[in-house]
Amino acid sequence: MAIKDIIRQDIQKTTAYHVQETPEGFIKLDAMELPYEFPNEMKQELAKILAQVPLRLYPDINHHPIVSKIKNVFKVPTKAEVITGNGSDELIQLLTLLVAKNNAKVLSLDPSFAMYKVDAELYGMQYISVDCDEELQIDFNQVFDIINQEKPDLIFIAYPNNPTGIRFERSKIEKIITESNALVVIDEAYGAFASDSFLDLAGSIDNLVVVKTFSKIGFAGIRLGFASGHPSVMQELKKITPPYNMNQLTLATADYILEHFDWVTEKTTEIKYQREIMLSELESIEFLEVYPSETNFLMIRTPDAKLVFDTLYKNKILVKNFHGKHPMLDQCVRITIGTPEQNSKVIGVIKSLFESLSL
Ligand SMILES: *Cc1c(COP(=O)(O)O)cnc(C)c1O
Repeated sequence: MAIKDIIRQDIQKTTAYHVQETPEGFIKLDAMELPYEFPNEMKQELAKILAQVPLRLYPDINHHPIVSKIKNVFKVPTKAEVITGNGSDELIQLLTLLVAKNNAKVLSLDPSFAMYKVDAELYGMQYISVDCDEELQIDFNQVFDIINQEKPDLIFIAYPNNPTGIRFERSKIEKIITESNALVVIDEAYGAFASDSFLDLAGSIDNLVVVKTFSKIGFAGIRLGFASGHPSVMQELKKITPPYNMNQLTLATADYILEHFDWVTEKTTEIKYQREIMLSELESIEFLEVYPSETNFLMIRTPDAKLVFDTLYKNKILVKNFHGKHPMLDQCVRITIGTPEQNSKVIGVIKSLFESLSL
């Protein structure tokens, strides 16, 4: 039998997740990374710690201080249990696997994080979505109707949402948690930039799991996410989590980050401030529609997304063009918030593009 007859047909038909290459010298504003790095002294201190890490040994997550430090720093309720993952991507995949019975269904609000659908289909589940409107808002009456009809087993809500930046109304999400019979995963990848969180309810409601990540707060490179939830779910999740999914270098680095979390708070606060400046600057350009955001990026609707993308690219700025990726994202471009200098450059390029067009 040929190899291609052995490998699943459905997987062969898909394409791998595409990561846009960043050319040398570009300002990278396409993937919601924090534009700041630890200052040199801290890097050197961390390097000394990493040199002592026992690379020879398997990591022992059950006796590592990291979980209790995460609980302290993020104020995870004592009732909740926490499981760490190799990025929250891994936890999203494992949570999907946890409910992947025959004919099980996953529901999400589109456009949203691409992996919800990818994982649902990987585990043979039906993916159901409710699309947003042109304002990137969701009609929750429709969501409740669909939940009643389809009875999904798993619901993913990115709170706030990626790629739109919108934070849905809390009461609507609460209603989804209490009225659906699904496991509801609230993905708070952008929690550090938002005005609200469901983490305080983790551990008190058995069908709620809150997922967070270190990726958008400065450490996408270490691959660390964590899920907080009720013991009745987390103990089952633990059974399917690979025993050594975390690595020693990530754990030691995260330990250092949590000991120096003031730095993270300072930088994420700066980004929120910069986001508001960017928002008003972009809103002042009459050709653009800018959507409200509680994240570290802004989604904008332009007269010509390709032109905006290409013009920024020519000026060595990389953003993400969403045109063609979802019907409600026609002519939309997503821009990660950078340093004040990077943001001014973005504004300058976009302003001169539209000035030259309106001449
Ligand atoms: C970036 C992102 C993630 C992935 O986070 P990792 O921890 O880097 O795997 C998950 N969910 C949403 C909504 C994101 O935007």
